[in-house]
Amino acid sequence: MKIINSKVDAKLNKVKNLPWCENIVPLLLLFIFVAAVPPPTAKKIYRKSISTIVIDAGHGGHDPGCHAAGVKEKEVTLAVALSVGKKIQEQLPDVKIIYTRSADKFVELWERAAIANKNNADLFISIHCNSTKNNTVSGTETFAMGLKKADENLEVAKRENEVILLEDDYIERYEGFDPNSPESHIYFSLFQNAYMDQSIKLASKVEQQISKGINRPGRGVKQAGFVVLWQTKMPSILIEIGFISNKKDREYLSGNKGVDEIATGIANAVSAYKKSYESSSSAKIN
Ligand SMILES: [Zn+2]
Repeated sequence: MKIINSKVDAKLNKVKNLPWCENIVPLLLLFIFVAAVPPPTAKKIYRKSISTIVIDAGHGGHDPGCHAAGVKEKEVTLAVALSVGKKIQEQLPDVKIIYTRSADKFVELWERAAIANKNNADLFISIHCNSTKNNTVSGTETFAMGLKKADENLEVAKRENEVILLEDDYIERYEGFDPNSPESHIYFSLFQNAYMDQSIKLASKVEQQISKGINRPGRGVKQAGFVVLWQTKMPSILIEIGFISNKKDREYLSGNKGVDEIATGIANAVSAYKKSYESSSSAKIN
């Protein structure tokens, strides 16, 4: 990673060469990264209202995402994303909805963020499906960028970030990000700091609407480093709407009822967030 300076490299090598500390190396590495690499900063932009929302259906085209028993993540995410957009439009007719894709098409991760930035979007919502070896695990998880327990959530971030390997020039494009390196994921989790509070507020509303509003199992708000959220210049979340690896979740998400309910939960959360944001002091600073 060229983003890590030589001082950090030297420290890492020093730590790696100590024979007695095998077990604490991951912790030390994390500490060194946080201590030695200044967190990336972004100019905080205050918005008076939420008027443009980008909805990002994960994967697409030659990237199916996770899949099981014939159900493909790229198809579920597209159906849910389009339904979320339609429902937001019905509830909030003044809001402009932009999709990063509205068909079965491969869109590189940097381009998804670029679409949001170019359109000066106020929110970025990326929709994905989860997968894990333990097929009894089910429910939604909503992520914001951040370091809190990022190591615990590494597996999800790793799986979602691996898609960049399908892109040309990914090493240059993502500043040396290596999807196989835990340090890369942890470093990336530090981006989006300026929007972290608002992203977490939106993520909480999504989890609330899903668990209480539509009565689905919600696994809560989490934080990790996602490449798709790396360069967005607005509050951004990534929703794992359920586990393709779990039979019940898979059947629910591949049916019209599931798509409609999950989309309702997300759209209601956006409406609640918009209402709360626009009546709060943060919208009135500018
Ligand atoms: Zn995904």
